[in-house]
Amino acid sequence: MSHAAAQKTLKEKYADVYAYTNKVLALIAKEEITKEEAEWVTKETVDNFRDHVNPGFLAYRKTVTKEGQFAAVEWKDAGPNSFMDVNGKEYIDCLGGFGIYNVGHRNPKVLQAVINQMNRQPLHSQDLLDPLRAMLAKILADITPGNLKYSYFANSGTETVEAAIKLAKMHTGRTTFIATTRAFHGKSLGSLSATSKAVFRKPFLPLIPGFRHVHFGDIDMMRKTFETCALVGEDVAAVILEPIQGEGGVNLPPDGYLKQVRELCDQFGALLIFDEVQTGMGRTGKMFCCEHYDVVPDIMCLAKAFGGGVMPAGAVIATEEVFKSFFPNPFVQTTTFGGNPLACAAAIATFNVLIEENLPARAEELGEYMLKGLREAAAAHPDKVMEVRGKGLLIGVEFHSDEIGYEVSKGLFDNGVLVAGTLINAKTIRIEPPLTITYEQADRVISTFKKVLPQVNV
Ligand code: PLP
Repeated sequence: MSHAAAQKTLKEKYADVYAYTNKVLALIAKEEITKEEAEWVTKETVDNFRDHVNPGFLAYRKTVTKEGQFAAVEWKDAGPNSFMDVNGKEYIDCLGGFGIYNVGHRNPKVLQAVINQMNRQPLHSQDLLDPLRAMLAKILADITPGNLKYSYFANSGTETVEAAIKLAKMHTGRTTFIATTRAFHGKSLGSLSATSKAVFRKPFLPLIPGFRHVHFGDIDMMRKTFETCALVGEDVAAVILEPIQGEGGVNLPPDGYLKQVRELCDQFGALLIFDEVQTGMGRTGKMFCCEHYDVVPDIMCLAKAFGGGVMPAGAVIATEEVFKSFFPNPFVQTTTFGGNPLACAAAIATFNVLIEENLPARAEELGEYMLKGLREAAAAHPDKVMEVRGKGLLIGVEFHSDEIGYEVSKGLFDNGVLVAGTLINAKTIRIEPPLTITYEQADRVISTFKKVLPQVNV
């Protein structure tokens, strides 16, 4: 706190905060803002990120130049597949909020469902039975593969993983979990135990006990770990996996791997948890990624695009056999806002749109188109690009170094295409646009990639 702020009386502080809130509320209410207002917004945003959010964000985002002279500050959505910064520059959104915007930005049906619900009752009483939660749970039981039947709702991906871990512990009475290298399951302490990246885990060790990591895709290592755990009396409660790893760099499982993991789980009496937080909701060309591999988990986690790009929402869905551990006391796992009516309205509308617009199939088609185009562009630059891979509209471009990836993602950004890739994590950039991306926009992404690649010199 500055010296001047410390000197203020409580009354003066409240007056200042009140005036500031009025100014911000007036801005939020505006459809268009002036150039002066845009400048004010940019300055306030950069200053407050530096002084009150975390200056670290300014240091590594490609959207901010070193001395902060230029900072792209987002302001509004510009269409289903793009957004606009505060200065009116438009970007094709190929980051898609790391997979939030499967049905596009501000999908009108999702938005309307949320507005309708907001006008009637935004949040629930917490005591009466809330209808949309019940209806959404039925939809999930109907649409997910196998016998997945009961749902618990949360607000984020990491919370769904926490709930999945608890379910597995309660159902099996065991405490050992097998996760994989390069996995990402979230950053709260439970899900972080399953996440593999050292830089996220190390400062917080020890995490919850009982987690072992094996190489993703290495079925022999998985088998040996199962065997070892059984031999030492630490039987495995569950294996947790992303069917295709997202955050870890779009890593596809080797042929037959997921089926073999399922078999091992069955052999050793363990559960299989699929974390489809990023791969679900049509992203990879099927409604759920596991459908490509014909493998059904006992527990599935959904979040990100589950809220239709409008509401934060997540769900864990499990078989009755597994979920019944929560029956005697449903309060063993709750969260105040989980399954709130706005989130449920958004998720119900999202399934409606995914089906009506046949978006999983569209993801498959556009994904193949983009993969082909990006591969052709990359073929001329084997010194820079190692591989272009993916399924549906979950695409990864792997470079020979973080530096090359960062320069490419920055070049794309300067040319109006946002992809995932930051200064500290750009060896594989992710391209995951809304599933509603048009061929014309896909062509622009490919041609921009083609243009930027030769310009990169690191
Ligand atoms: N699981 C997977 C597969 C994810 O990709 C993510 C987020 O990137 C999470 C879990 C965590 O979700 P959240 O950031 O909503 O907590």
